Amino acid sequence: MNHLLSIEDLDRAAIERIVEQAARFAEVSDREIKKVPALRGRMVLNLFYESSTRTRSSFELAAKRLSADVVNFVSSGSSVEKGESLKDTVLTLSAHKPDAIVIRTPWAGAAELVSGWTNAAIVNAGDGKHEHPTQALLDVYTLHRRLGSLDGVSIWIVGDVAHSRVARSNILAFQRMGAKVTVAGPPTLIPRGIEALGCDVRFTLEELADADVVYALRMQHERMNEAWVPSLREYAACFQVNARRLSPRQLLMHPGPVNRGVELSGEVVDSPQALITAQVEAGVVVRMAVLYELLSGSRVFRPVPEPQLA
Ligand code: ASP
Repeated sequence: MNHLLSIEDLDRAAIERIVEQAARFAEVSDREIKKVPALRGRMVLNLFYESSTRTRSSFELAAKRLSADVVNFVSSGSSVEKGESLKDTVLTLSAHKPDAIVIRTPWAGAAELVSGWTNAAIVNAGDGKHEHPTQALLDVYTLHRRLGSLDGVSIWIVGDVAHSRVARSNILAFQRMGAKVTVAGPPTLIPRGIEALGCDVRFTLEELADADVVYALRMQHERMNEAWVPSLREYAACFQVNARRLSPRQLLMHPGPVNRGVELSGEVVDSPQALITAQVEAGVVVRMAVLYELLSGSRVFRPVPEPQLA
């Protein structure tokens, strides 16, 4: 594996390899000294053009636990505010010779574009509403730990599918691992033709009891320039996952950040069937496994443009 741009690039065996490696790294996280020398002397650059709490902190922690050097770049306070383009920023920072660049942007396809400009391994940490592959991998890992296998498991992904990069990556990853995926939400928030990915579609939660796992999504206001639902109150009345709709045998997941009282009621967020904290914990070990997979072996280097910048 040279880059991690999309779940589409990973077959079941590759996903299983990352999950198994993550399980080995989980043991490191339980030690008093939480570090292994696996990536000593390597450099990881975190390049974040969009806000992030879990993803950025867990990539940083993952790189540090593997003893890599980490440089964090956030677009606010940088020359991006002076108008520096993504390409110029990447070329400039590539002068520091990072071995991996973890990149989050609001632009679909940006991670792939960047992979053509630098010799570093690129990890897509979210590109607009396109994909968020490490979220999908940590969700597979979390369910794998809880259920053993995803074969035949029914997973309902509920909410704003249309604007969610998590939905796209997770539909692909869960199905590759043998799960049966249903997406549910109001018709305005379910992309037309999504069945082509192999999932079922529902426009109500009437059959939610069929799900073994309910995966709720956040309403992605930052990607909406008009109203996609009549009101959040109305949305919650029809699609909120709450104690009335969730049965005690079902597992609940959410990628965070949660809007309590909108897609989830507070009581289910805090219930024992919620795996939300386990998902965050999984983020570190799965991202360790991804960085290890990309950087521990030898990489194929291609010629890339010389930076032409002052
Ligand atoms: N944290 C996830 C993402 O960056 C989910 C969300 O923001 O709703 O896509």
